[in-house]
Amino acid sequence: MSAISIRGVNKTYDGKVVALKDINLEVEEGEVFGLVGPDGAGKSTLFNILTTLLLPDAGDIRVFQMDVIRDYKAVRQIIGYLPGTFSLYPDLSVQENLDFFAVMYKSSIEENMNIIEPIWKQISPFKDRKAGKLSGGMKQKLALCCALIHRPRILFLDEPTTGVDPVSRKEFWDILKSIRQHDITVVVSTPYMDEATRCDRIALIQDGEIIGVNPPQTIIQNFKGHLYTFKSDDIFSLLQVMEQCPLRCNYYPYGEHCHVAFYEDMETAMPQFERFLEEHQQPHSEITAIQPSVEDCFIEIVKGKT
Ligand code: ADP
Ligand code: MG
Repeated sequence: MSAISIRGVNKTYDGKVVALKDINLEVEEGEVFGLVGPDGAGKSTLFNILTTLLLPDAGDIRVFQMDVIRDYKAVRQIIGYLPGTFSLYPDLSVQENLDFFAVMYKSSIEENMNIIEPIWKQISPFKDRKAGKLSGGMKQKLALCCALIHRPRILFLDEPTTGVDPVSRKEFWDILKSIRQHDITVVVSTPYMDEATRCDRIALIQDGEIIGVNPPQTIIQNFKGHLYTFKSDDIFSLLQVMEQCPLRCNYYPYGEHCHVAFYEDMETAMPQFERFLEEHQQPHSEITAIQPSVEDCFIEIVKGKT
């Protein structure tokens, strides 16, 4: 069954900022579905519409066949939402926050302990600490407990790991995977492309448009270029020189490296490329063929040079 069905959704703020353009998307029940895109892509706008907090300008959105506008009250009963901004009461303790959300949803902690137990184990040593005094990772774990306390059928998480340290990020994703066992569909957004590979399927979003939907492995398999990496002594000068490269390619800095995706027959293109770098006095490390990451795929689709 479709957990979410989105047809022709548009949203413009103040009559001028186009945040979403004709979004069409299906999320299947039981999936961990990722919405992956940079800042300003429209992720939070879509989340706020899906969670009944914001009205779209146009389109039809169903959550388990219920209309998010007409049936908003019923939709709210079956969703959990962890918004991008800290949503707990900073002056209440960890325990008090959880109690509050349980009462608000007419649920009980005991009833749903089996869902939150792996997370609760990690935060219960701090149960008397004020929520505002927790570390970033701990705050998110508490927020996750609170969003799960009424056993929602769908859990929405808007950039839950932004600003969270790498160890907590990994723990958080392990928890998300475990939530699936309880028949909870998970929809999560992230600007971190490396996290995309932990989802069953991802939608790549850029400038309010969905530019691809697939399992991450399929997105990687669909990469069309021949991808290479190397280090340069002066990446700034290299990128300037690359503007004159006669070969069909996309190039971009990638951490300390430069990535180049060629759309050429590499047997002739590689010697040509090495000559080109030499003629333009660009010392570099060995040029190595590599497998693309989701980020490389995103860039390929956005640059459209395939
Ligand atoms: P993301 O969550 O992917 O960073 P957002 O949905 O927050 O993207 O934003 C999409 C676009 O809409 C951006 O250009 C942003 O500046 C704009 N935007 C978001 N919220 C508002 C708002 N309340 N008023 C006006 N513009 C907004
Ligand atoms: Mg956002």
